[in-house]
Amino acid sequence: MPVKTTAPNSAAKSVKQPSVNGAMAAHEANPWAQAMEQLDRAAQKLNLEPYIAERLRHPKRILTVSVPVKMDDGSIKYFEGYRVQHNLDRGPAKGGIRFHPQVSMDEVKALAFWMTMKCAVVNLPYGGAKGGVICNPKEMSIGEIERLTRRYTAEISIIIGPDKDIPAPDVNTNEQIMGWVMDTYSMTIGYSAPGVVTGKPIEVGGSLGRREATGRGVFYVTRELAEKRGFDLRKAPVAIQGFGNVGMNAAKIFQQHGCKVVAVSDVMGGLYNEDGLDVDQLMEYRRKHESIAKFPKAEKIPADKFVEVECDILIPAAMENTINGGNAARIKAKYIIEGANGPTSNAADRILNQRGVTVVPDILANAGGVTVSYFEWVQDMQAFFWDEKQVNAKLQDIIVKSFRDIYDIHETNKVDMRLAAFMLGLRRLAQAVRIRGMFP
Ligand code: GLU
Repeated sequence: MPVKTTAPNSAAKSVKQPSVNGAMAAHEANPWAQAMEQLDRAAQKLNLEPYIAERLRHPKRILTVSVPVKMDDGSIKYFEGYRVQHNLDRGPAKGGIRFHPQVSMDEVKALAFWMTMKCAVVNLPYGGAKGGVICNPKEMSIGEIERLTRRYTAEISIIIGPDKDIPAPDVNTNEQIMGWVMDTYSMTIGYSAPGVVTGKPIEVGGSLGRREATGRGVFYVTRELAEKRGFDLRKAPVAIQGFGNVGMNAAKIFQQHGCKVVAVSDVMGGLYNEDGLDVDQLMEYRRKHESIAKFPKAEKIPADKFVEVECDILIPAAMENTINGGNAARIKAKYIIEGANGPTSNAADRILNQRGVTVVPDILANAGGVTVSYFEWVQDMQAFFWDEKQVNAKLQDIIVKSFRDIYDIHETNKVDMRLAAFMLGLRRLAQAVRIRGMFP
């Protein structure tokens, strides 16, 4: 059986699980509360001026919009949407748009805060933002999704723009949806503005390499970690939770580099094959069926037990909080590379740290996506496009350098990698705040 309920493997020390009461579980499930705890921890470590930490507890701009959509049956349905610009001190706001039934204001605020930190960590000249619409695109037709996207874009067009706030894909949004964002915004201003959004189709100003960029960044940080820790990446079984843009491309790139992907999952369920799964076949299967859960050549694992699967490297690339106080003690992986945003709760982080499990945090591990988004925006602004080799080489430079900077902080200060990443990002951000000073 791939999921054992026995004690974790010898590489990781066993730690007694805390009892999770209702209040604690609610706190753990609130991404904004989690994010603010992470901020406090780093601010304290850096001895940061209180007014700077306080600034980051108050998102700069929050817009709530009502999005009326004409449904296929002729009825009008209202959806609630948000755009949060968390911080603009280092440049225009940047961050994706998420379509999901569980979107909430606190989730969007947390995701926007993590974008602020992520852009600072990889030193992009951006602040952080995020958008979301409470909806279930799985139950909507393509026409309904297009109308939702266009109306939501029109509603937030008062605060977005190539110099102001540049959206991108996130959970359940893709290149086509970004194409509609670009078109809708361009229609409202009267000329084409490809720089208003990234992750667009190549034909309308997208960048080569953007689609694979997050997965590629996940691979680069894992390869760096293997080098630092002295293990052979090709002998370390990999499990990937989520088979969307991040998970699928990570699986593909790990396999291309000779690694063994032993487990993958989506919302419907997980798969395990000790000898390795054929990622090309999985991708083919997914093209034909909605889900990979019934892929034949593998053992089936329940989705909610997936993170406990037997592996060395676990890549959570789905939603927040999938690794939490309730399962962290049973994780078998020695290394967790966060492809998703906020997949590990702070309670889980503490348990994993005590057990000697290394977590490469989201704000570094999945920063490949926004890094190539930045390249896309630069290309759009210059109307001059790069080849894929150039994109991937520059991506590698940025991710490897950021990893090494963070690893140095992790070693010299004897702090976990999440705290190290926060320290790096926060230092840069604080410097920008000090230099700019207070208006008026
Ligand atoms: N949604 C992605 C993230 O969370 C990409 C954001 C972007 O490219 O702006 O990093």
